[in-house]
Amino acid sequence: MPLDRRHALTLGFSLGIAGAAVPLLGTPAAAWAGPIRPRIHERLEWEAREPRETATVLRRAPEHIVIHHTATSNSMDDTPEHAHRLSRAIQKHHMRRNRWDDIGEQFTISRGGHIMEGRNRTLLAVSRGMHAVGAHTADHNRTSLGIENEGTYARTSPTLALLGSLVKLTAWLCAQYDLNPYEAIVGHRDLNHTRCPGDYLYDLLPELRERVWHRMVGRRFSPAAWKLEQQSLPRRGVMFAEQPERVFDHGPALGISDFSEIRPE
Ligand SMILES: [Zn+2]
Repeated sequence: MPLDRRHALTLGFSLGIAGAAVPLLGTPAAAWAGPIRPRIHERLEWEAREPRETATVLRRAPEHIVIHHTATSNSMDDTPEHAHRLSRAIQKHHMRRNRWDDIGEQFTISRGGHIMEGRNRTLLAVSRGMHAVGAHTADHNRTSLGIENEGTYARTSPTLALLGSLVKLTAWLCAQYDLNPYEAIVGHRDLNHTRCPGDYLYDLLPELRERVWHRMVGRRFSPAAWKLEQQSLPRRGVMFAEQPERVFDHGPALGISDFSEIRPE
């Protein structure tokens, strides 16, 4: 009897704390070491300021990977310099306006497809199968990792460059943490009262889960095009009129229970 693919995924991956995912079904285990880490711009590269406090690192994996949009304009600048400026602007907003210790999310992806590390200690924690606690989804920060995707997606879709990087990053994270993408990948609106990550990006989450699963088991996804490509996906450099109502505000990011259970790890 054929196994349901989600069941097969759960059965098929075995992961040590710092090890790579090894599929036991379908492909020879020795030939496949799991998705490689994509290019990630570390904090030093985007010139992050020092955090007020070092992040709390929990000795366990997060349960969810939460997809956000940044609630910023849909920029046509796809350069790494722009991506670094975006991370600096978000960090400044989170630390000065929100009075947080550091940038809230663990990862940021620009519309040009550049992936940036967010909260301090994130990459170190991921490499060890641990979780650097951030501030992006109220009352779920100790059990979820947040990816902020540049733009506002209530009325238009992200760029292909952004979506491609989102697949690579999420597949690597699911492998590092031994997570089932069909269960782990959620939108901010699934956990808090908010419209984040916008209807268009939210509607792409089923396809994101599918593409991540294919990448995890070492298969190329087919068909190659995202479902919305023919309708509205810009390849690059398309400016949209869509603007967020309040820049950087994509919904509740901190809640009471994010603080109530803080204890030494
Ligand atoms: Zn959000």
